[in-house]
Amino acid sequence: MNIHEYQAKELLAKHGIGIPTGHAALTVDEAVAAAEKLPGPLYVVKAQIHAGGRGKGKFKELGPDAKGGVRLAKSIDEVREAATEMLGNTLVTIQTGEAGKQVNRLYVTDGVDIASEYYLSMLVDRATGRVAMVVSTEGGMDIEAVAHDTPEKITTIVIDPAQGFMPHHGRSLAFALKLKGDLNKAAQKLGKQLYHAFMEMDCEMLEINPLVETTDGQLLVLDTKMSFDGNALFRHKDIAELRDETEEDPAEVEASEYDLAYIKLDGNIGCMVNGAGLAMATMDIIKLNGAFPANFLDVGGGATTEKVTAAFKIILADDAVEGILVNIFGGIMRCDTIAEGIVAAAKEVELDVPLVVRLEGTNVDKGKAILDNSGLPIVSANDLGDAAQKIVAQVKEAA
Ligand code: GDP
Ligand code: MG
Repeated sequence: MNIHEYQAKELLAKHGIGIPTGHAALTVDEAVAAAEKLPGPLYVVKAQIHAGGRGKGKFKELGPDAKGGVRLAKSIDEVREAATEMLGNTLVTIQTGEAGKQVNRLYVTDGVDIASEYYLSMLVDRATGRVAMVVSTEGGMDIEAVAHDTPEKITTIVIDPAQGFMPHHGRSLAFALKLKGDLNKAAQKLGKQLYHAFMEMDCEMLEINPLVETTDGQLLVLDTKMSFDGNALFRHKDIAELRDETEEDPAEVEASEYDLAYIKLDGNIGCMVNGAGLAMATMDIIKLNGAFPANFLDVGGGATTEKVTAAFKIILADDAVEGILVNIFGGIMRCDTIAEGIVAAAKEVELDVPLVVRLEGTNVDKGKAILDNSGLPIVSANDLGDAAQKIVAQVKEAA
């Protein structure tokens, strides 16, 4: 789960980490009121969307010469002007895709005088099974370009969770950022605080770009992105409440209500599968047969009629879908139960695209018989390869 910049900064501030003072705003008047609470004379008005690259982004409605989604304002009037231009308009950045994202919230912060910009991120590194802290002196800009062109400017510090963040990790971090004196000490302290925040909140990713050194010698988090492990949200009710569903794909939100793991993709073959591994294999074999999956969808272990119906509806709501491949392994849930669910769901949603079903597992023959006798144009397949070939052929035929 992702959250907004202002929410992430407030969480970091609770862990003692330095951020510029700021207030969120939903309207122009709130933005002005937020600025009036700040000392001035420099303010920053920042679009709150779940995507980075806002500074260099462009508003669809404002034309190519207008400023982006992070604006420095030198007076309350300029704050008002920036807020008026941004709210309700669509910001397109390198991370939003062409459609962009509507700006519904702003964050008005105290403008800081920057001496240097650094990069710092943390993530769960699956290769080592540890938390990695990635730091660079080249902050503020496109870190992917730095990684590509000058990888020697990026340092990765790996922390063993059993040991925790040790003083030597802090020293490595401060050294990598080439900091001296008090700033060196501040960086060591920050590393420790960030590690604790990351672990305590069950973060998946925490990126600070830029981390800044101010002209008066402080280290502040100027921009941050944070995401959390969805499986751990049950023990962080306060964080779960920060979810902003307007930032998410509506189909993905609906899927999460039925406990379905759904991710929209670009192809035309809708997939309904149980188990993430089988779903991945199904997507691969569709590609191998020359077509592309329209989605990843894992209905999970307990594929009830209700869930299968919801899954069909979500798949069919996608205009790009020209055929559906159901690939279910009946283990604890038997194939005949699943087949009944598929037939009931297909009838309810008035299926208007080809449907190929591959069942395997307990009571597979009974399941196939239910599909064959349903009176519905369901094509049944014998194995994964057969299923993929059949759905690709059916879609081509229908086109
Ligand atoms: P992003 O474009 O979505 O990554 O948004 P950021 O919050 O990182 O802002 C983009 C850039 O705006 C930063 O890299 C800074 O150079 C600049 N910026 C943001 N806040 C301030 C500020 O308080 N003072 C100054 N001088 N520049 C700022
Ligand atoms: Mg940034």
